Amino acid sequence: MESKSFEVKSNPELWEKLGMDVARFSAMPPMITAAYQKIFLSQKDRPKAMAYFDEMVSEVHSGRIEELVKAKEEGHPVIGTFCVYVPEEIVLAGDGICVGLCGGSQGSIADAEKILPRNICPMVKSAFGFKAGRICPYFQVVDFVYGETTCDAKKKTWEILDQYVPTHVMEIPQMKRERDKALWVEEVKDFKKAVEKITGKEITLESLQQATRKMNAKRMALQRLNALRHHNPSPISGRDMLLIQQIAFYDEPQRFTQKVDLLCDELEYRIRNKVSVAPASAPRILISGTPMALPNWKLHNIVESAGAVVVNEESCIGTRYYKDTIEDGTATMDDLLGRLTDRYMKIDCSCFTPNEDRIDQVIREYRESGAQGIIDYCLQFCHTYNIEAVKLRQACEKQGIPFMAIESDYSPEDVGQLQTRVEAFLEQIQG
Ligand code: SF4
Ligand code: SF4
Repeated sequence: MESKSFEVKSNPELWEKLGMDVARFSAMPPMITAAYQKIFLSQKDRPKAMAYFDEMVSEVHSGRIEELVKAKEEGHPVIGTFCVYVPEEIVLAGDGICVGLCGGSQGSIADAEKILPRNICPMVKSAFGFKAGRICPYFQVVDFVYGETTCDAKKKTWEILDQYVPTHVMEIPQMKRERDKALWVEEVKDFKKAVEKITGKEITLESLQQATRKMNAKRMALQRLNALRHHNPSPISGRDMLLIQQIAFYDEPQRFTQKVDLLCDELEYRIRNKVSVAPASAPRILISGTPMALPNWKLHNIVESAGAVVVNEESCIGTRYYKDTIEDGTATMDDLLGRLTDRYMKIDCSCFTPNEDRIDQVIREYRESGAQGIIDYCLQFCHTYNIEAVKLRQACEKQGIPFMAIESDYSPEDVGQLQTRVEAFLEQIQG
């Protein structure tokens, strides 16, 4: 797409109907337009199939919201979530729509800080601030939200969020012993019952199988895309990959899967014809750690503006969302729920202890992606990822893998300092 013709569209009438603070929110689309033009549309040799994802950004506050409003009118409830542990398959099987509501914007932090303490993770503050300030159309459109108990900041915030929008909470175990798995199965069954109650529709074996296939297809398309981007030289930038993985949380799953597959076809063509976004000599970086919710593009922009390519995101907005699928085939409802819970228990969030699987997974992805260094990204005040970085560093040192840990937030204040650190790290990698 031509940079000049790109625009994040506005729809004040729709926002008004959704009870938003229209005057304040009107400043958001022009801000995202400017950032998107600078960070994404200035890139050279982008795959043509990125046009669809540009369009999704252009429609993020208008066309996609209109689709969700229409779906609600047709009897499909919209459920907001904050964590990849909340099983989307069950929402789909109940004829509902799942949207990710994690916040990645500095713009809503001040709204949250009027109510919540300042010294908590910016993702929680950003998400809460969107609702408190009525400045996110997704938050306004959801019928209710489903939080979880992964970390302290989240689980206590849900108690306050419930005063603004009906907020249910799933208990996610913190360990992976048999008794923890048994608790998780019960939580999933309760979640199924809650979705059935809200949608007024029984989730049958057939509807759950269909939803499982739909989500498996989506996750497999993302796996295929991630494997293709590992090629050296990279056929797609890390910035574009991050964007696609962010859009995965608000787009319609079937359409999204088709578009990802089309992009994969183009990347295969590019690989055959040696079309890339950076030379093969460009340093290759894996980013691990806390998820980067839309529109958090800060670190990818810094790394790629310094001449490197991000070749993998070990993150929930990354491989943790799609590395595992649910085994298909003949099953009873109990079998299928068992397979579903097994799949979800493989998510190696740092809220678990012990969590050696994640350390192994990061190293595995480092090797598979052909990365030359790991930058571990942690949001300020996220204790679990921050402390787990110690073990990751130890594992990297043992295996001679260049490693750097950074802690940041959504403000632009540390950009200069991060640029200097990233450049020094890239020099170290290149020897
Ligand atoms: S990092 Fe943990 S808490 Fe956050 S989305 Fe992933 S699994 Fe959920
Ligand atoms: S980044 Fe860390 S502190 Fe923030 S919501 Fe996720 S797990 Fe909690």
